[in-house]
Amino acid sequence: MITAQPDYQQVLESIQEEVRPLLGRGHVADYIPELRKASSERFGMAVYCLDGRTFSTGDADVKFSLQSVTKLFALALAFSREGDNIWKRVGREPSGNPFNSLVQLEHERGIPRNPFINAGALVITDILVSRFVQADVAVLQFMRMLADDPTIDFDMAVAQSEQKTANRNSAIAYFMKNFGNLHNDVSEVIDTYCRQCSITMTCSELAKAGAFLAKHGTVPWTGQEILDPSSAKRLNALMLTCGTYDAAGDFAYRVGLPAKSGVGGGILALLPGEAAIAVWSPGLEANGNSLAGTYALERFTTLTSRSIF
Ligand code: GLU
Repeated sequence: MITAQPDYQQVLESIQEEVRPLLGRGHVADYIPELRKASSERFGMAVYCLDGRTFSTGDADVKFSLQSVTKLFALALAFSREGDNIWKRVGREPSGNPFNSLVQLEHERGIPRNPFINAGALVITDILVSRFVQADVAVLQFMRMLADDPTIDFDMAVAQSEQKTANRNSAIAYFMKNFGNLHNDVSEVIDTYCRQCSITMTCSELAKAGAFLAKHGTVPWTGQEILDPSSAKRLNALMLTCGTYDAAGDFAYRVGLPAKSGVGGGILALLPGEAAIAVWSPGLEANGNSLAGTYALERFTTLTSRSIF
């Protein structure tokens, strides 16, 4: 039963208090050297309601590295242009393996399990590189439009830091090329992917940018249809089943919302028909999801009695 809309500001403020003991815990991603500069003491959260009201707490207006959260936007852009053709090259099943694993690819002959593990995201990047003159700029422009903010940008220090250490992602890309599932130069795909992952946003900006997926594919404040409702439903389903690494089952159990996380500590979650929620805290659990961020979303759905279930 849907109850009257909760007082989101009050909910966010009590979550801010509740997560305090978790701050400073977890592990800040350091395999991309530039990311280790983030402090695990940080915490921000924002809610963008589809009627335009916004609520926020803590570091909600501090920029952070979106990393894999950008995979959702790259996928939405590719899906909006190529439709179901993308499923010839990437699957739609949870992987149950770490996001940067090579193991499954051998068995599955270069077809990644889903578009949110690195192999699948690299295929999506490859599709965009074939489609756009500058695929990284196309993703950036898409995200600027969705956030209604032309100042959203790459963080070139993070992009270069990842490019220098992208051996595993390069290996994944070469492996898929060997199976014929990467059409462009590996170096071009990797550079494009690293720049896309380096995009920074605040929680407030991210919640707004993701709102179209909570509104069945339509940008709430312009009415522009990015995806038809059926396609938006499918991306929500992928987020629920594959969006939070190999912990997607546990995340669905605890939070009950479709979501996409990144190793920068950000998570974008959707309350379809009502709101988009962004949370950021850089300390990660072992599987790569933000420790305080996941707990905050769990408390959000509990305190508001809102989830997709
Ligand atoms: N750019 C990161 C990588 O490929 C993204 C990882 C993530 O956020 O899951 O390793």
